[in-house]
Amino acid sequence: MNLDLLAQTLAQLGEPKYRLAQIWKWTAQGAAGYEQMTNLPARLRDELTARVPFSTLTVEHEAHASDGTIKALMRTEDGRVLEAVLMRYRDGRRSLCVSSQSGCPLTCSFCATGKMKFGRNLSAWEILDQALHFRRIESVDHCVFMGMGEPMMNLDNVLEACRRFPDIGITNRRTAISTVGWIPGIERMTADPMPLRLALSLHAADPQLRSQLMPVNDRHPLPEVLAACERFYERKRRMVFVEYVMLAGINDAVPQARALARLLDPRIYKVNLIPYNPTDVGMAGSTPGAIEAFREELERHGMGATVRLTRGRDIAAACGQLAAGALSVQAATAVGTGAG
Ligand code: SF4
Repeated sequence: MNLDLLAQTLAQLGEPKYRLAQIWKWTAQGAAGYEQMTNLPARLRDELTARVPFSTLTVEHEAHASDGTIKALMRTEDGRVLEAVLMRYRDGRRSLCVSSQSGCPLTCSFCATGKMKFGRNLSAWEILDQALHFRRIESVDHCVFMGMGEPMMNLDNVLEACRRFPDIGITNRRTAISTVGWIPGIERMTADPMPLRLALSLHAADPQLRSQLMPVNDRHPLPEVLAACERFYERKRRMVFVEYVMLAGINDAVPQARALARLLDPRIYKVNLIPYNPTDVGMAGSTPGAIEAFREELERHGMGATVRLTRGRDIAAACGQLAAGALSVQAATAVGTGAG
């Protein structure tokens, strides 16, 4: 819902100022349309239906995985595509993975989204509407910006959406913004008062390998990125999650785990190993044995690490799978989350 357009329309209709908050409250609590807002006059509900689309996005396709994950392929009013995912966990958590851009201008070599043509930054309303779509299905309580795009390149809109997330049920403490290491964005997040979580997609401790996997490493070299993350920690006292996608024969050898452990201060960072999900970019994921050996080596060197539960693999909603194929298979299944 475009709240700017809504505010303008309400003003044109001569409605009292409290209407905006009233309508947003209904929307954030999962109302399916203006017609459900029973404390609005019927003529106002009709006017709004005609003049302010209830969502800035149209859902083109929804895929349901056997583990309860739902992936939605959505389209903006100007025809850009994006994907968002709802992950359901046994402990009751309902976590969203949302997109900040349609496509992504960065070109991480393992990422399906990076192979798509970049569309544009999403507006704050288009980000919020991804969350609202799932809120209409059930209550949601966590959100990660790990869908399409690099959130730090669209930080104004990402932060505007985050300011509204608590109304939907997702506190800032349960919202994580994941970056490839876009330093100006990390610095702005550090200065922002919201207690958001920061996640850094690291993927290789070796600078050459990291540049091959993530060309952005040439622009924002890892030592400078880590210095920015450490300033974030000093200011916020919130640990930084390090995302590390496990690519067979590329970054999953035991000595590479040692190098990673040497690089990171365990008081500041926690490593999350991400099993890589097959996409059409020609890389294979590490075996469970290789992932476990990597994790053990990290722990042996004092670095806490977890292995991410894979969700939605059978609908290509898992990490690294978001986006690319989506268009060519006509909304079938792929949304490519940047593991970035
Ligand atoms: S991993 Fe993230 S930053 Fe890299 S290309 Fe994919 S979406 Fe963009």
